[in-house]
Amino acid sequence: MSASPLKSLLRLYVALTGSISAYTVGLLDGYTAEHRRFLSSGFICGACREFLIKKTMVADVLVLDSEGGAIPMLQARAKGKYFACPKCGHRWEFRRKKQSQ
Ligand SMILES: [Zn+2]
Repeated sequence: MSASPLKSLLRLYVALTGSISAYTVGLLDGYTAEHRRFLSSGFICGACREFLIKKTMVADVLVLDSEGGAIPMLQARAKGKYFACPKCGHRWEFRRKKQSQ
């Protein structure tokens, strides 16, 4: 058995809700194509295929600012530019700056 039943259920839940938010909130919020893919895949790392979720139902990823420095998840919306996989270090841009503000 490769995964616990609970984790499989979580995975399904995130795949469903993640794809919903990816196609609603995500598009409006200027997420990149790769980040939408991450959300709609159910938090699967695009490089190592690891399922990235914490027990608190949030994505288990590192948040980096535009200089590549790690910042708290709480500041992701304000300052974050990249998400990174804690397992393999794969990094992707999750949001494009809005063109006009
Ligand atoms: Zn990875």
